[in-house]
Amino acid sequence: MAASVWLRGAASGLRYWSRRQWPAAANLEAVCSRSVASKTPVGFIGLGNMGNPMAKNLMKHGYPLVIYDVFPDACKEFHDAGEQVVSSPADVAEKADRIITMLPTSTNAIEAYSGANGILKKVKKGSLLIDSSTIDPAVSKELAKEVERMGAVFMDAPVSGGVGAARSGNLTFMVGGVEEEFAAAQELLGCMGANVVYCGAVGTGQAAKICNNMLLAITMIGTAETMNLGIRLGLDPKLLAKILNMSSGRCWSSDTYNPVPGVMDGVPSANNYQGGFGTTLMAKDLGLAQDSATSTKSPILLGSQAHQIYRMMCAKGYSKKDFSSVFQYLREEETF
Ligand code: NAD
Repeated sequence: MAASVWLRGAASGLRYWSRRQWPAAANLEAVCSRSVASKTPVGFIGLGNMGNPMAKNLMKHGYPLVIYDVFPDACKEFHDAGEQVVSSPADVAEKADRIITMLPTSTNAIEAYSGANGILKKVKKGSLLIDSSTIDPAVSKELAKEVERMGAVFMDAPVSGGVGAARSGNLTFMVGGVEEEFAAAQELLGCMGANVVYCGAVGTGQAAKICNNMLLAITMIGTAETMNLGIRLGLDPKLLAKILNMSSGRCWSSDTYNPVPGVMDGVPSANNYQGGFGTTLMAKDLGLAQDSATSTKSPILLGSQAHQIYRMMCAKGYSKKDFSSVFQYLREEETF
């Protein structure tokens, strides 16, 4: 009788593949052994604002973790909770055959993968390496090639949703890579996100993420300008936000992450713009959008303007504050 395999699939539920549809015997073996041993340790590298709550959600789903961060304090609470903390990405790769990386920039991802003590030094054949950092799609493609040469699988799976969604397990993952490996990635990503969307070949997850963040940057600046103008016109900020959120100006920056202190609880603007999504990271994402726009000859007039504004904020001491601090920046810059 012809063998066949059921795997957990896209949002619609179970997805069926006949053995004939599998791309290569080696891949089949790799995916099957990973899914059979589904509660084997998962490696997690980069336990910052996002990685910390994401890793905790994997723990809640019963996955033992192998943890590494260059900043040892970031590992402390995982160590205290009984998880394995190791001293390099290579050591993570030695102990886990599924690894998630959640790092700030392309340079950090290259270091974690290809550095002197990087993942590639000890990666096992058939391992699944998922990079959830927001980085240059060209770097994702390069990493994928290096990983493939080692007989392992690489997928880019950047996220949208911010720290709140990371805590509640409601992130959106945009996944690029070999489609036959999507189900294996989804098993883990589904523990941390409400939406796990397959975008296409390696790099397309990053492409979707860069587009989303360019729009987010533009709408955040627009919301900050709008709220500031309304306040200057004598409107109560809470009332103005309420009206925007029941009108056509409504957006995520106005109704979920309002930049004006006192309008919403539980967002960075309520906490002196601490935590959340750093201005420096937003400037980085807009730089990626700018590079992509140049290489594809796409006009991004507002995206370029947003890039300059966030770069200027970094130069003026806002780099570590959440990107919604553009509201505070606009008010401090007012000279007329
Ligand atoms: P963060 O700076 O808070 O955390 C990054 C962590 O990675 C830090 O603990 C740092 O010590 C560690 N690190 C850096 N280089 C490393 C290396 N070579 N090896 C091991 N650890 C290393 O950043 P974050 O806010 O968690 O963001 C991570 C990624 O997620 C970024 O690419 C960001 O653009 C993206 N992102 C962030 C948010 C958000 O709201 N914060 C939302 C969506 C996407």
